[in-house]
Amino acid sequence: MERHILTVDVEDNFTFDELADKSDWPKYEGQVVENTLRILSLLRRYNAGATFFVVGKLAERHPEIVKYIMDEGHEIASHSYLHKSLRDVPVDELEADIRKSSEILSSLTGGRVLGFRAMGYTIPRDEATFYRLLERYGYKYDSSKKRNSGGDLRTIQRDRIYRVFPSSVSLLGLRTVFSGGTYLRLLPEFIINKGFSQYRTSGQPVMLYVHPWEFNKDQPKRNVRLKYKILQSPLTFSTERKLDSLLRKYEFVSIRKYIGV
Ligand SMILES: [Zn+2]
Repeated sequence: MERHILTVDVEDNFTFDELADKSDWPKYEGQVVENTLRILSLLRRYNAGATFFVVGKLAERHPEIVKYIMDEGHEIASHSYLHKSLRDVPVDELEADIRKSSEILSSLTGGRVLGFRAMGYTIPRDEATFYRLLERYGYKYDSSKKRNSGGDLRTIQRDRIYRVFPSSVSLLGLRTVFSGGTYLRLLPEFIINKGFSQYRTSGQPVMLYVHPWEFNKDQPKRNVRLKYKILQSPLTFSTERKLDSLLRKYEFVSIRKYIGV
């Protein structure tokens, strides 16, 4: 069976600065625990493994979520501490975010956290400093960048810190990400299957990324712009159906297991 990578960004659908002001977050109904449990039971059915990128602040609020994920044998990795853009943060803030998320998650898991993913693929502009900081805090891989530098099908780039990218499909000469979030929800299944078949010939795994809120059509109402109302409409929530059909066809494992760190 072909082996691919599955990742989950553990968050609610209002924890984005562009979607809702941070001070408003407590006003919304948090569903992240129950939605994550839905994903866990789906994966259990297929004996599939995954990496769960957990926001540090969320792990402080819901430490039980880390336990539920670990009890099923999945990997816990860091989705930063505050879940805000890291693109232009000053280096001391960047370091504090990496350190705090690592501390809280390793205190809950009792082991080292090896993987990092910035919010919304907002890798810091100064990538060299960022990778150096990740190394300092014991990370082995990073999944904060949307595209690899070669523009090819490489999902995993080996360096001092491994880099793991989402997967893209070539359509009419144009390359677009297909393997997670809005792309996975909106693209029809034949295009997703086409993406998988392109990776098959390249010998690289596909890296999927999903969010717990995509598994629950009953979302709390948010006062957001029309664009997000449309892009995040529950009418687009096809992730569970699509993931279910992929789990039937392929083996999925965590990043840690795939790269063997
Ligand atoms: Zn996120």
